[in-house]
Amino acid sequence: MTNSTLWAERQAATPRGVGVMHPVFAKRALNAEIWDIEDNRYIDFAAGIAVTNTGHNHPRVKAAVAAQLDNFSHVCFQVTPYESYVRLAEKLNKLAPGPTPKKTIFLSTGAEAVENAVKIARAATGRPAVIAFAGGFHGRTMMGMALTGKVAPYKLGFGPFPGEVFHAPFPAPYIGIEEADSLKALHQLFKADVDPARVAAIIIEPVQGEGGFYAASPAFMQALRAICDEHGILMIVDEIQTGFARTGRMFATEYADIEPDLMTIAKAMAGGFPISGVIGKAEIMDAPAPGGLGGTYGGSPLGCAAGLAVLDVIAEEGLCERAVEIGDRIVRRCEAIRQSDTGIGDIRTLGAMTAIEMVEDGDATRPDPGRTARIVAQARQRGLLLLSCGVRGNVIRFLTPLTIGFDTLDEGLDALEAAIKAS
Ligand code: PLP
Repeated sequence: MTNSTLWAERQAATPRGVGVMHPVFAKRALNAEIWDIEDNRYIDFAAGIAVTNTGHNHPRVKAAVAAQLDNFSHVCFQVTPYESYVRLAEKLNKLAPGPTPKKTIFLSTGAEAVENAVKIARAATGRPAVIAFAGGFHGRTMMGMALTGKVAPYKLGFGPFPGEVFHAPFPAPYIGIEEADSLKALHQLFKADVDPARVAAIIIEPVQGEGGFYAASPAFMQALRAICDEHGILMIVDEIQTGFARTGRMFATEYADIEPDLMTIAKAMAGGFPISGVIGKAEIMDAPAPGGLGGTYGGSPLGCAAGLAVLDVIAEEGLCERAVEIGDRIVRRCEAIRQSDTGIGDIRTLGAMTAIEMVEDGDATRPDPGRTARIVAQARQRGLLLLSCGVRGNVIRFLTPLTIGFDTLDEGLDALEAAIKAS
């Protein structure tokens, strides 16, 4: 079987709505490398979209899951609960930012975590409305899409969406949106569109992921916290892409030194086992009545076992510190490449959530999505898997496993440099 024959079969067998980024069928993966069905080797700067922070097939995670499989793979926490769910919740309750006692519910996907965070916020406040940010991404369920800012391709043809959802501009100075404008727009929203007394929650990604790796500053997060406090609105921080050491802290919220009311987590929390969660202030988490929350697979035993192992790996291998080193190394290389390439605009990172913005002639107002796509394709030909993102389609993001060796990282950056030069 070759990649191209399977690619043709895939197009016939699966719907085109499932967009695929690379025509490379994975056979096996280890740490920061993936081999395809033709035994081509790729360096992985995508991490399954920010999932394998602890690397592919980490022995600790694999052993924890294998041990769990020996006991049982599923019983449903809501039928016969099990210890790993409680232990993982206890650990996360302690790790979540802020002093207020916390509780955690586990689900399966990021979108489901977002759905549940909104449900809990509505139950706790008795209010209907939710405010999200333009350019944000919160998943592909109905509420996830409603909250998501970007229309194409995520929302195209799928409406109507749940009502009472409003959007404010996300501060991204590089593309001309200043923090002050963003806050002003929020106040304007309260005046013109929705009475703040009707707003249950404001949801924000501390660093917009799909939207282009724009980080909200600590000052902006603090301002938002103050607005929420003033109006009795709950602050939901979506840490689904930013969590678990990616940004150099366990959670990106820590940079702002604030306490969210609710926090959504998924992706890297179990190194590849589908599990997600909502962590929140205990009193708020207890608002829904018994039976109102949950799901058949929520907090699967395999995910909980993997999640506990991932927390150990992050601590023992110092992955927060490692994220900072990785981000710095990528930034340094990209800055060197930019010396002779005016097509690279902004270079930014928070820990290892690193991105470069492709523009024409160094002009931030002239995004270059065409060259972005060419670089991604050229990199693949050189054995490097990259992802693009951004509301303007011109951001190349780097999401390496945080366990990547520096030799492999440098090899990947060599391939990146060659791909940029060839595009
Ligand atoms: N929220 C954020 C910030 C995300 O980045 C994503 C996925 O990329 C989601 C929610 C949705 O997660 P999932 O794809 O697991 O449903």
